[in-house]
Amino acid sequence: MKTSLSKISTISSREFISVHKGPKLLFLGAIHGNEICGPKAIHLVIAEIESGKIELEKGSVAFVPVANPQAHKLGKRFVDENLNRVFAPTKNPKTYEAKLANILCTLVDQSDVVLDLHSITAKGEPFIYLDFPTKNNRALAQALGPKIALVGWPELYKRIGQGSYSSDTTMYSAKMKKDTLLIECGQHSTPKSTEVAYLAIIATLQYYGVIKGKPKKQKLTEVIMDNVYFRQNQRERFAKDWKHLDPVKKGAVLYIDKEGIAIMTPYDGFVVMPNAKALNGEDWLYLGRGKKA
Ligand SMILES: [Zn+2]
Repeated sequence: MKTSLSKISTISSREFISVHKGPKLLFLGAIHGNEICGPKAIHLVIAEIESGKIELEKGSVAFVPVANPQAHKLGKRFVDENLNRVFAPTKNPKTYEAKLANILCTLVDQSDVVLDLHSITAKGEPFIYLDFPTKNNRALAQALGPKIALVGWPELYKRIGQGSYSSDTTMYSAKMKKDTLLIECGQHSTPKSTEVAYLAIIATLQYYGVIKGKPKKQKLTEVIMDNVYFRQNQRERFAKDWKHLDPVKKGAVLYIDKEGIAIMTPYDGFVVMPNAKALNGEDWLYLGRGKKA
């Protein structure tokens, strides 16, 4: 709670409005300050609209390249607290991020569609958080580009008792009846993640008919989050150097426990967010069931 006046207190947004009525789209970058693919991709698209390379056919589009300006300036994930845990309006915001959330939520309120652009620390292919698998969100997910969507995080978090306090961009947007997805575009700072973010923005604009063109429909595999393994002991070790979204067959050894017993997967699925450096009691890896959409 150490908010001071020296923090950047202005959020920049840029809006383009067609003379023809249509859906209102909102794109958010750098909700986590150190994730730069969103800002970079958004600036590319803004430049293309300004130069006339892209023209709006209908509706409007608002861009917030940097949703957490102070954290972005410092190259940090957040300043006081994770903006994507407190993304809801509050009467008396105490922290920097709670104040940002109040402004950003009003932008969500004025939109029909919200896409939140992120990147991750680990290597791995891009994926989508399809936390609210409505018909519209599922159809948008198939247009976005990545081939994998994770489903069921809110339910899994609730089951393991971590879901009650948390609100992120998609949870707030879904509550306000908006179409919404969060995309993890790849590893931080890689040119590839900027390209993935750029293509996702273009595909979303096309999907809603805001610009010309038709996005390619992807064969999307939905990975249903099912199981979490918490680390019990530092002598436990992964059976192999798991990468995020590695597919596993039923009976494959996930890890060796402290007694030397092999812990196997109970079904065909995917290893999700393995963390080899987990401390005792922390989430060690997740397992999801795969299903072709
Ligand atoms: Zn993020």
